[in-house]
Amino acid sequence: MEKHVVVIYPHPDDESFGAAGSISKFREQGIPVTYFCGTLGEMGRNMGNPTFANREILPEIRKSELINACKVLDMDLKMLGYRDKTLEFEERSEVAAHLKELLEELEPSLVITHYPEHAVHPDHNALGAAAIEAVRLMEPEKRPVVWAQAITNDHYEVLGKPDIKNDTSDYYDKKMEAIFCHDSQASGVLSQFKHVDKLETEVQEDIKNRFSTEEFYTWNFDD
Ligand SMILES: [Zn+2]
Repeated sequence: MEKHVVVIYPHPDDESFGAAGSISKFREQGIPVTYFCGTLGEMGRNMGNPTFANREILPEIRKSELINACKVLDMDLKMLGYRDKTLEFEERSEVAAHLKELLEELEPSLVITHYPEHAVHPDHNALGAAAIEAVRLMEPEKRPVVWAQAITNDHYEVLGKPDIKNDTSDYYDKKMEAIFCHDSQASGVLSQFKHVDKLETEVQEDIKNRFSTEEFYTWNFDD
């Protein structure tokens, strides 16, 4: 049983799409979960439809959406305060030192983050790499286990099958509820899920299947 789980992703909504089912499962077991959210996604191109947000108020909107999603998932939130789309340009060693300090305070037994170079978005790759570096810098006996999430289309071919395959089908509704908190992004990928009941049965099944498993690679620090 885990002692404390820390989730480290760069954007509001990464936690809901990436790990909401696993988070819910941990919370149901009474395990504390904390989300280290890297940015406020303030550079998001998606301003909603019709446009209701501009660059000035988007961070505030995404911040309140993030807080709501964390309430739905019943986890603590720590906003790291980096700027969206610039994480890849931050000194990795500085971000890693920052994360290491925070991790040493919480002493988690498990860290969930993106798999560097296999996470599609430069911010995902950069924060995943910094999180893994932070854990690597810790004394080996104090290191939490790291679950790295790959989301590139070819990650099965390149990395092999993930060793962690969480069946999260029991938490499907919870995951959807968390995803829907991120309403400002609703004209993008969310729109197809918003009216999921109106979609063809096949499409509904496909979405349900996709959202009923969350996969991770246990990071090997011996290499
Ligand atoms: Zn993201």
